Amino acid sequence: MAELFYDDDADLSIIQGRKVAVLGYGSQGHAHALSLRDSGVDVRVGLPEGSKSRAKAEEQGLRVVTPAEAAAEADVIMILVPDPIQSKVYEESVKENLKDGDALFFGHGFNIRFGFIKPPAGVDVCMVAPKGPGHLVRRQYEEGRGVPCIAAVEQDATGSAFALALSYAKGIGGTRAGVIKTTFTEETETDLFGEQAVLCGGASALVKAGFETLVEAGYQPEIAYFECLHELKLIVDLMYEGGLEKMRWSVSETAEWGDYVTGPRIINDNTKAEMKKVLAEIQDGTFAKTWMDEYHSGLPKYNEYKKADAGHKLETTGKELRKLMSWVDDKA
Ligand code: NDP
Ligand code: MG
Ligand code: MG
Repeated sequence: MAELFYDDDADLSIIQGRKVAVLGYGSQGHAHALSLRDSGVDVRVGLPEGSKSRAKAEEQGLRVVTPAEAAAEADVIMILVPDPIQSKVYEESVKENLKDGDALFFGHGFNIRFGFIKPPAGVDVCMVAPKGPGHLVRRQYEEGRGVPCIAAVEQDATGSAFALALSYAKGIGGTRAGVIKTTFTEETETDLFGEQAVLCGGASALVKAGFETLVEAGYQPEIAYFECLHELKLIVDLMYEGGLEKMRWSVSETAEWGDYVTGPRIINDNTKAEMKKVLAEIQDGTFAKTWMDEYHSGLPKYNEYKKADAGHKLETTGKELRKLMSWVDDKA
């Protein structure tokens, strides 16, 4: 059984006794910096001169310095810039400012797991990764609640790295909801697999294939959109609340029968064999290397895929339909 930690298991005074640098002020960065500050922690935000985020952080009452200045002042450095540029930020601004006993924090294990960042032996290396988008992390904190987090220690130089990670998680509201202990390896590999095979990749491909099948058979795209995309949310909400059982309890017996007999024809042994290959490519670093090569060569294929899907009939149909659905809120 996974180890879970709550407010009573975490000592907020540990992080209150440290100087924290939050590098980046995007989705996660703004949530961490503001909530830590509101938890009585000494926080500075590290952003380059000319960064678009600077004005926002300053307006919200935070002190903004360059990433190198932030790393030099602080003894806990949380890196919340996009994963593909973290190693550059580390090399340019963090590395030379790390002292023994400092702690390097991450919101995702990618750069440590695949060796793009190699911290010196004298620093703690921790992860506190909220299991939700940054704007929700902040909103929940303000409402006295929290988003569950996972926490890990890759390198425990001081012998008290996990207590520090829990204390940090408490500062952003994570221990109000619960913190699960993991490792950098487990977090990184399961996160990449989940988003590729199920959540983003698997779900988009399933929706697209279903929509195309109906439209190619001559049905109205609007009806196909409702059937294959719009209703998916309603089904997923039921699964979220009560697993497959609650979803099957709520749908008709006909839908439930179709689930049993047709589901395994769509997602079959071949799909699972491919999922195993996808997982192996994540584990052996092939995916990370391919993605970093793509990123650093200016994202040619990424932009091609993005453009192709933006023009897909599923998207153009949905765009028009959603304007007519007063009950759908497309704001973040
Ligand atoms: P965002 O893309 O939202 O944030 C980017 C921020 O980094 C911006 O403020 C940007 O500034 C700033 N930035 C860009 N370049 C630099 C630089 N050279 N030095 C300092 N700051 C810079 O990132 P996310 O919040 O999505 O991701 C941060 C980390 O959190 C990642 O490791 C991610 O995997 C992890 N994570 C993200 C989740 C999410 O909800 N998005 C969920 C869980 C984990 P500018 O305004 O100038 O562009
Ligand atoms: Mg992810
Ligand atoms: Mg139906």
